Amino acid sequence: MRRVSSGLVLILFMVLSASAQESCETAAYLESEIKNNFLSSGQVEWLEKFVAEKKGDKSLSRGGDKTIITIPVVFHVLYHTSAQNIPDAQIHSQITVLNESFRRLAADTVNTPERFRELAADCFIEFKLATSDTRRRYTSGIVRKYTPISIWDADDKMKFSSEMGADAWDSKQYLNIWVCPLRRTLGYASFPGGDPLKDGIVLNSTTVGVTGKSSFGEGKVAVHEAGHWLGLRHIWGDDYCGDDGVDDTPKQAGFTNGCPTGVRLSCGSGAAGDMYMNYMDLTNDACINLFTFGQSERMRALFEPGGPREGIHTSIGLQPPLIHEIPIAEEPPRWLRPNLFPNPATTEITIDLAYDPRWIGNVMYLTNVQGVRVMMLNITSTIFTIDISQLKPGIYLLTSHRKDGERWQEKIIKM
Ligand SMILES: [Zn+2]
Repeated sequence: MRRVSSGLVLILFMVLSASAQESCETAAYLESEIKNNFLSSGQVEWLEKFVAEKKGDKSLSRGGDKTIITIPVVFHVLYHTSAQNIPDAQIHSQITVLNESFRRLAADTVNTPERFRELAADCFIEFKLATSDTRRRYTSGIVRKYTPISIWDADDKMKFSSEMGADAWDSKQYLNIWVCPLRRTLGYASFPGGDPLKDGIVLNSTTVGVTGKSSFGEGKVAVHEAGHWLGLRHIWGDDYCGDDGVDDTPKQAGFTNGCPTGVRLSCGSGAAGDMYMNYMDLTNDACINLFTFGQSERMRALFEPGGPREGIHTSIGLQPPLIHEIPIAEEPPRWLRPNLFPNPATTEITIDLAYDPRWIGNVMYLTNVQGVRVMMLNITSTIFTIDISQLKPGIYLLTSHRKDGERWQEKIIKM
């Protein structure tokens, strides 16, 4: 298939971002990365060149190396409500779907049409929850963290503790998967070669593992995103009849919605038609069931010497831990809203805002029942005491709001 220049790559990612945003923001994400210089066009070009050099390497191709590559995975579960703190079982089912898909062991592989079955590959890539953290302490591979953020944008903030998210574990050694409630996005991934602090996959809390709750409820979003994380492009090459850099995937006009059947021809894709059942299309979970040998070769190339995923081979992530202490699970703060005590009060009242340190630096007002402001205070710490001894007995409202729209209001009774 034809190769595209890096300049064209830039443009086609921009073209795509408007159309496929609902289902997959990866291209939009890559576009924004290029725009923000996190992944320069030079890096995209480097990746394509590296993959092209490895292409045709006998050990990588069909019938070549059958060594299983096992990727240590850490899930960072960021939750604001208990429903977002998804159970271990859901994460385990996600790992199972990843392994069945990359090893071509899923029951639905029988749905791969006869005309493409010859191309369908066991990629010999597996995923396993980490057993050692970066300091070789015991881990279950699942890290849970309460956050005051109730919804996230696809802007990587969840990848930083300083933004109320969770920092990546060394991305040379682990696949980081962040799970959080995402606005209008099922998930997105970073391509190899970008900022190591942002390297990994982000999944919407509702899209992890097998839930059966939507068209994307069978855990295949993570399979698609893992494909991106391993350097795969969308099947339509992110352009009208574009190039995905893989030889055995037919050209395709664009992405697929829903769950088509039969032969669909586009771009002179040949008698077999489009491969809309490929994991790198946007077809419903129930209707995608293969990676090709060409895609497998492209992914496995990244683990070769000098490749961006080479570090996985020497990762400590799946080694037995040296420190066996079970880490104490991080508890959510007791109060998920301002806590005022004592209330009613006579002389002073303590305000605890520890559930959300972002209140520091904002202003708080105390208003009487007539709506008159009787006090204005700068919030300089998460826990502080205010003197109310001079106030007349009665009911007051304490309020504060932030630039991001977050606000709270609490009633105080002065005795
Ligand atoms: Zn995608």
